[in-house]
Amino acid sequence: MDLIQIRRDLHKIPELGFQEVKTQHYLKKVISDMATDRVQLTEWRTGLVAIVTGTAPKRTLGWRTDIDGLPIQEATGLPFASQHEGFMHACGHDVHMSIALGLLAKLIEQPIKDDVVMIFQPAEEGPGGAEPLLAWLEQQRPDLLPDQMFALHIAPELPVGTVATKPGLLFANTSELFIDLRGKGGHAAFPHQTRDMAVAAAALLMQLQTIVSRNVDPMDSAVLTVGKMTAGTVQNIIAENARLEGTIRTLTPESMKRVKKRIESLCRSIEEGYECNVAIDYGASYRQVDNDTELAESFLEYASQYPEVTAIRSEAAMTGEDFGYFTGRLPGLMFWAGVGSPFGLHHAKLVPDETILDFMPDFLYNYFKAL
Ligand SMILES: [Zn+2]
Ligand SMILES: [Zn+2]
Repeated sequence: MDLIQIRRDLHKIPELGFQEVKTQHYLKKVISDMATDRVQLTEWRTGLVAIVTGTAPKRTLGWRTDIDGLPIQEATGLPFASQHEGFMHACGHDVHMSIALGLLAKLIEQPIKDDVVMIFQPAEEGPGGAEPLLAWLEQQRPDLLPDQMFALHIAPELPVGTVATKPGLLFANTSELFIDLRGKGGHAAFPHQTRDMAVAAAALLMQLQTIVSRNVDPMDSAVLTVGKMTAGTVQNIIAENARLEGTIRTLTPESMKRVKKRIESLCRSIEEGYECNVAIDYGASYRQVDNDTELAESFLEYASQYPEVTAIRSEAAMTGEDFGYFTGRLPGLMFWAGVGSPFGLHHAKLVPDETILDFMPDFLYNYFKAL
């Protein structure tokens, strides 16, 4: 099985969440080529769930890979760059899928004792596939629900061969944030006849800065970033509409609730003070990734003994991952896996080091065997 070729094939066809039609087709083909009566494949929307029967199963282990790409125009100049204009596997999900296929092939060749469920999950980047997939498993296919759940994410800032994780909180609670302000436009020279949304949006943007500094416990932590702000149409017309687009990150679900409540009151005060309408949309929200303490400790122990691998204890990060819905429901573990790239996740020049594919499936196979 040529995992590098598979990764490059997948890299060429990045698709957005719940549109992973070509990707699903490709994955199905690779899996059916290695099929035996030991593996059963089920489709869920644009994703796939494969179960490999163990030799003497006492429980079901689960591995999850995400499969979607991002709306980013690739700028790597690679011969196998994205063929989908404006889309790119800039978060390494092509590498994740290839590792999962490598692991699946090993499990089919030489089954371990336990059953293993491999989940190829759509829409990690948005709108979020883990939560509805988990609901489907619970309601329709409890036979495919694992007892423990595992996943990795590539880490461009770590060299190949390094894995990093920690017990407890690994990734934050996250939520998108879209705020639309609607006022009354008009001639630039007659401001008194209008409700200027450029001014209202500017005031709101500044007020939002007080939430983290004044409403979040300094011993806790949170992020509220507005990455995009738009208002108006041309230079001499007062803006009728404005929009703020941002993201919220917190270390607990409670502080997420608190931050959202404060955003809502500030928006109400802007409505009152600037005589306008303000609408909030939180878009996709992800639950924090909580690593099971025992699994994290035993994984770090296993990894530190593994010949080609360096294991490090990482810090929690304000990144988000919908794998958090799995760790909210099942004991689970997620870890970072180094792919040494000078450009980070979601960057148009991200080039993960493919040599991770040489050892990672074996590393995971032996880990599952030892669990
Ligand atoms: Zn991502
Ligand atoms: Zn990702």
